[in-house]
Amino acid sequence: MLKLDNKVALVTGSSRGIGRATVLALSRAGAAVVINYARNREAAEQLLAEVEGAGGQGLVVQADVSVYEESEKLVRASLEHFNRIDILVNNAGVNRDNLLIRMKPEEWHEVIDVNLTGTFNTTRAVMRPMLKQKSGGRIVNVASVAGIYGNSGQVNYAAAKGGVIAFTRSLAKEIGSRGITVNAVAPGFIETEMTAVLSDGLKEQALQNIPLARFGKPEDVAELILFLAAAGHYITGQVIAVDGGLVM
Ligand code: NAP
Repeated sequence: MLKLDNKVALVTGSSRGIGRATVLALSRAGAAVVINYARNREAAEQLLAEVEGAGGQGLVVQADVSVYEESEKLVRASLEHFNRIDILVNNAGVNRDNLLIRMKPEEWHEVIDVNLTGTFNTTRAVMRPMLKQKSGGRIVNVASVAGIYGNSGQVNYAAAKGGVIAFTRSLAKEIGSRGITVNAVAPGFIETEMTAVLSDGLKEQALQNIPLARFGKPEDVAELILFLAAAGHYITGQVIAVDGGLVM
């Protein structure tokens, strides 16, 4: 069994969906967890209650990771409470799908700001304290298969996630010698509130292209993140798809 006793994990955007499942998986493995949300305090507090109810340790911090000062606040609050950060999961993300011809500049900027700049902001804020700890570390960025293969109606989202992948590989080269691994997971179609809004027609079409013949669950992604956080000692700079075979 993968163990994370005495480790502290910060998971951005973890009030719901994949982030929530990741918090539960890391907490079950023994990590103390920082639960971050942007707007949904109630969901974040409920998750904390679940973590504590199962005997784990956690902290809830509100922060909009698209703003650098907020990421700094998030990291500061985590360090004040737990004294260290061993694992960072950059999971916070939004989509604002539209065909390019109709896409508003605000839709472009919001998606880039949360998914890509948010990943830079929180990683930048964590880096100095993580290096100071001199005990290595793990960074897992949540990208998307759209960032590898592209997707019609998602130029903003695919560009942001492609950026997250390039960020991951570059940082892996930059800090590998300090014992910090940096990897990306690329989910396919996962059942969360993000995909719940898609039309039945689109879902049916997607399902036909998934060899494992089902949509993914947040737990399917969380178990890979747990592996990269707790094992994966010689894995860095990789992008691993969790997509039921959708885009192989
Ligand atoms: P979700 O259910 O919509 O949850 C999104 C989470 O991100 C929520 O906790 C939300 O907090 C948080 N968030 C949004 N904007 C934020 C901000 N500016 N600062 C901090 N937190 C913010 O989404 P999901 O499906 O779990 O997606 C999680 C990650 O997986 C995203 O990066 C997404 O792009 C990626 N992904 C998802 C799929 C999929 O099929 N679902 C596929 C590929 C990749 P609040 O609750 O406060 O709003």
